[in-house]
Amino acid sequence: MESTESTAPDLVQGLSGVGAKKGELLAKLKITTHSDLLLHRPRRYEDRRHCCAIEEAEDGVPAVFRGTIQSINLRRFRHRRGSVVELVLSDETGELTCRWWNQSYVSRAHSEGTEILVYGKPANAKKTTIDQPEIELVENDEKDDIHLNRIVPIYPLTQGVHQRWLRTLVWDSLKSFSDQIEAPQQEIGSRLKTSRSDALWSLHFPDTIEATVEAQTFFAEEELLSFQLKLQTRRLRFNQRAKAPACTNDNHLVQPFLAQLPFQLTAAQERVMREIRSDLNQPSSMRRLLQGDVGSGKTVVATLTSLMMLESGFDVAFMAPTELLAEQHFKTLSAWLDEFDIGLALCTASSKTISKESKSTLTIGTHALLEKSYEPSQLGLVIIDEQHRFGVSQRDRLLRKGPFPHLLTMTATPIPRSLGLTVYGDLEHSIIDQLPKDRGEIKTYVRSNDRLDRIWTFIEQQVNQGRQAYVIYPRIEEETEGTLKAVESEFKHITSRFPLLKVACLHGRIDRDQSTQTMDAFRQNEIQILVATSVIEVGVDVPNATVMLIENAERFGLAQLHQMRGRIGRGKEDSHCILVSHEANENGWERLRTLESNRDGFAIAENDLRHRGPGEFLGQQQSGLPRFRFADLIEHRELVREIRTLVRVHLGLEKPPIESDVAGNT
Ligand code: ADP
Ligand code: MG
Repeated sequence: MESTESTAPDLVQGLSGVGAKKGELLAKLKITTHSDLLLHRPRRYEDRRHCCAIEEAEDGVPAVFRGTIQSINLRRFRHRRGSVVELVLSDETGELTCRWWNQSYVSRAHSEGTEILVYGKPANAKKTTIDQPEIELVENDEKDDIHLNRIVPIYPLTQGVHQRWLRTLVWDSLKSFSDQIEAPQQEIGSRLKTSRSDALWSLHFPDTIEATVEAQTFFAEEELLSFQLKLQTRRLRFNQRAKAPACTNDNHLVQPFLAQLPFQLTAAQERVMREIRSDLNQPSSMRRLLQGDVGSGKTVVATLTSLMMLESGFDVAFMAPTELLAEQHFKTLSAWLDEFDIGLALCTASSKTISKESKSTLTIGTHALLEKSYEPSQLGLVIIDEQHRFGVSQRDRLLRKGPFPHLLTMTATPIPRSLGLTVYGDLEHSIIDQLPKDRGEIKTYVRSNDRLDRIWTFIEQQVNQGRQAYVIYPRIEEETEGTLKAVESEFKHITSRFPLLKVACLHGRIDRDQSTQTMDAFRQNEIQILVATSVIEVGVDVPNATVMLIENAERFGLAQLHQMRGRIGRGKEDSHCILVSHEANENGWERLRTLESNRDGFAIAENDLRHRGPGEFLGQQQSGLPRFRFADLIEHRELVREIRTLVRVHLGLEKPPIESDVAGNT
């Protein structure tokens, strides 16, 4: 490698050939620093060591051709708008026609007799043709070792930045500076054998295609490592500072509570309780994420954790995302804790109820808990239900109401592990991976809307046997008039179709008191069919409801559908979930079908993540996720886990994995 006197610059602007104008263009590609340039990820590679002879073009197999432009013609359509450019390319073996639709500038940019490279997928019409190929000029003063006779990178571009120019810029930068670019995480050291400079060369100008895969893994690892270091270092500092509220473990509430609970904890619930108890006995405050599929019984875990802190003399705040859910928790816990000498309070925008005054109080509420008026005197524990509905800043606002209270944050949207360890990488994770026994089965069916009549007959039968049903219509994020009407007008249809049944309607625009009444009536089986938007998505627990019809199911994410489906299947009876798709689209149909055969929330979540990407999947939480150029949370899920452990062991947050785990890999 050439060695130079100069050191690598910080910014890309100022490199030879990059003035203010080019600097701005590069910024559009998110390249501002020199390091951004070196990490600009090729979107594909082209093997120009072996250009394909035109006569050997294979139908449908993408290839690179090299030849001379024989002719180039622009035709405008007479009767409709638009144009087509036809370019005929020849080499010693034959002719190839290239076509571009509505890109007339191509004809201006090229002229007959010049040599070009063409990349695309040939198709055999009358002659060998490629539609919309990518092309690149061969210049004769060309440095062959950059653009020809090698595997070359093809970058994402923006208007005004050309492939050859950018490639040359990267090449020159690598020549001058690659050996000065240090790995950012020297203290842990790369686990890969390659040097960073070699990895950079392989990323842009590889000797083999395999080398590009290795290089991309190298940089994925680097990104994950640097992210985890930041996250875990923050966690380490937290641990050093956060002196935890002490847990007495005297069990004077926990034991009688367990004794009078109408069911036995599942093995998974017990395991999670041991994990939590061990956290509560550490010198620093607990920071734990509890994931448990819908219906797996997280509320009782939250209650037990609360009791442990209440019996130690602390207050507890239990926050849920909707009033509906907060009220439900308040009812459940009031019933469970009736006999106990515990203060229990409800704190929402529309109601402030205190059932009993006591030294230490468990307050269940909504966002209202964040307001100044909620002032616990000794906040020892914060529980957040359906945490993905809250932002990190809200969580922190509640935590600041006490001196380092413990935190238990819960979610029923299973988060694929690799994503969870990244976004929530600074939390300990517990998983309830088991449903209470004696639960009926949930049968799921995907149907088209022409079957609706039969579906309604089925629902009627079920209701006549004493069951209850949910009927869901989609709700768009910004509630436009149109969508709400859909729920309301369907509600009218259903009411008139079943004059003998009690049907009610529930959505975000119905006032609180009425919604509460409706939910209470539904819980008492005074309402048989509840027509709703996805407001019932979270938390609602009515075991006798065993039928769910979701219309326009194609409008929901899989994880969300799974979550809604979790409203049924909570009793001993079998349940039925019918997903009606109003779209004939094959892919959409297949996507919904995965729910038919799958009840495992984690598998569904992974599928959802694959389809929609982490941003969509996480919704409002996405702010926590950095922009990774190389790391892919599905492809690199093993790496994510390994690196998090590596970093935590390095910082002393975790003990090294036991020998037998390691032995398994060798
Ligand atoms: P989620 O995890 O979705 O919040 P819940 O806490 O609402 O689930 O529990 C669902 C239902 O299962 C509730 O009616 C609850 O009382 C019941 N339940 C919880 N744990 C058990 C158990 N170990 N055995 C039987 N039923 C249980
Ligand atoms: Mg719940």
